Amino acid sequence: MELREKKTLVLGAGKSGVASARFLAARGAIVALHDKKPQAEWSDEALQLKHEKVGLIDGNLPSWLLDQIELVVISPGIPTNSIPAKYVDRKDGEVIGEVELAYRFMKGRIVGITGSNGKTTTTSLVGRILKDAGIDTQIGGNIGTPLIELAESSTGDGWTVAELSSFQLETIKEFRPNVGICLNVTPNHLDRYDFFSDYAAAKRRLFMNQTAEDLAILNADDEVTADWATNLKANVVLFSTAKILDEGLFLRGRDLVCRANGKEKVLTTRDEMTLRGVHNVQNILAGLAAGLACGASPESMRETIHNFKAVEHRLEFVSEIDGVKFYNDSKATSVDATLKALEALGEEPGKIILILGGLGKNAPYEPLANLIKDKVRHLITIGADAENIEYQLKEYAETSRAVDLGDAVRISLNAARDGDFVLLAPACASFDMFKSFEERGRVFKSEVENLKNSAKLKTAQ
Ligand code: ADP
Repeated sequence: MELREKKTLVLGAGKSGVASARFLAARGAIVALHDKKPQAEWSDEALQLKHEKVGLIDGNLPSWLLDQIELVVISPGIPTNSIPAKYVDRKDGEVIGEVELAYRFMKGRIVGITGSNGKTTTTSLVGRILKDAGIDTQIGGNIGTPLIELAESSTGDGWTVAELSSFQLETIKEFRPNVGICLNVTPNHLDRYDFFSDYAAAKRRLFMNQTAEDLAILNADDEVTADWATNLKANVVLFSTAKILDEGLFLRGRDLVCRANGKEKVLTTRDEMTLRGVHNVQNILAGLAAGLACGASPESMRETIHNFKAVEHRLEFVSEIDGVKFYNDSKATSVDATLKALEALGEEPGKIILILGGLGKNAPYEPLANLIKDKVRHLITIGADAENIEYQLKEYAETSRAVDLGDAVRISLNAARDGDFVLLAPACASFDMFKSFEERGRVFKSEVENLKNSAKLKTAQ
C-alpha cells in the first residue's frame, strides 16, 4: 500500500487513532487527525502529533477537506456509518480501521482472537504459550498495544497474537488471521447494534478471508459459533467443556484432552491450572488448540498452563489472611460476569463473602440469587447501586453496607471463616467511585495488603 503523499484522515484521537496517525505521517502521508472533543480534552500524546506533521482538527469537519481525502482510518469507537466515513467511502476513497492498516504492513503470521468474553485472558495465554515454546511472538490489539505499533517490529517467521473486538472487525477488509479463535458470542454491545445477529456477523468477519490453509478454532458449546463450524473455508477445530468430541479439544472429568485422527492425548488437567472456573477451561482449551497449530509442544504448553496466572482484575488471586483467600474480579462489571466468578469459586469447599456494587447498569441482580443462597456467607454492598442491590438480594444472605472498599475489606475479613473466599466481583461499573475498573481493582488489592500487614502486626504483639 502506497502512503506517500496520500491524503488521509484519522477519525478518533484515542490510542489507536494516535498510533495510526503517527504511523501514516512517518511514512510520508499527509495526515489529519480528527476528534469531536475540543483539543483541550485531548491527551498530551495526541497533541504532540502536531510536531510530527499531523494536522489536528476538533469539532466539525469542513466538507472541503472531506472532498480531498483519499483514505480514512476509523477508530473502533466511531460508528462505521458516521458521516465523514460515508463521505469518503466513494469510488476513489477507502475507509478502513487500524487493524486493517496494520495488517497491510505486518510481516509473519497472525493469531486473531475474538469473542464476547475471555478475549484478554486467551490472548495473554496464547502469547505466553508461544513465547515459552521459543517462538518469536508479539501481543497486541484490543489488549493494549495497538497492532499498528507492532507492524514495524513484526518478523517474517514470527507470530503476532491479536485481541480483536467486534468494533475492530467491522472495519477490516483483507485482514486474514492464519489462526482465528472465537470464544463465544453472547448478547453484548446491543447499544451499538440493532440486532444480535448484526453483532454476531461482526465477530464472524474474523474468518471471512481465511482459506483452506488457515484454522478456525470455535466453541462447540456456544450456539452461534457451533453453527459456523460447518460453513467456513478454513479448517475447523472445535473445543468443548460440555461434551466429548470425536475430534477436537474437550474436558473429560478433570482432564483437558485433545483428540485428532483417532488418537488421544491428555494435554493437562484442571488440577494443574491456577485459573479457576469452567469458563477458564474454555479459554485454555482454545489456547491449547492455537498453541498446537503454531507448533508449540504439548510438554511446553503443559508447563505454561501450570504457571499461567489470571490476568490482573480477572478473578485474580490477591492474598491470603488467616486462611481466607481474597480474589479481585473488578473486571466483572456485569451480572453475567459476576455469575461466572461465583460459579468458579462456588466449585470450592469454602463459602464466599461477596462484594457487590458501583454504578448499576439497570440489569436485574436476580440471576445471582440462587448462587448467593447456596454459596455466599455474607454480602457486602458498596457504591451508587447499593440500596437497589440490597432491595433485590438481601433475603438470600446476611448483608452489610460498606462506605468504601477499605471498609468492605475489613467487614469481609470479620465475616469470613477459615477456608472462605472474599470476592470482589461488583456486577457494576466503577465510575461512581473510581476512574476505571483497573483503579477499583488496585484499591481493593492495596486495602487487602494493608489489612494483611495490620493482621501481621497484631500477631507479632
Ligand atoms: P474480555 O477481554 O473478552 O472482556 P477477559 O479475559 O478480560 O475477557 O475476561 C473478562 C470477564 O469475562 C472475566 O472476569 C470472566 O468473568 C468472564 N469470562 C472470561 N472468559 C470467559 C469465557 N470463556 N466465557 C464466559 N465468560 C468468560
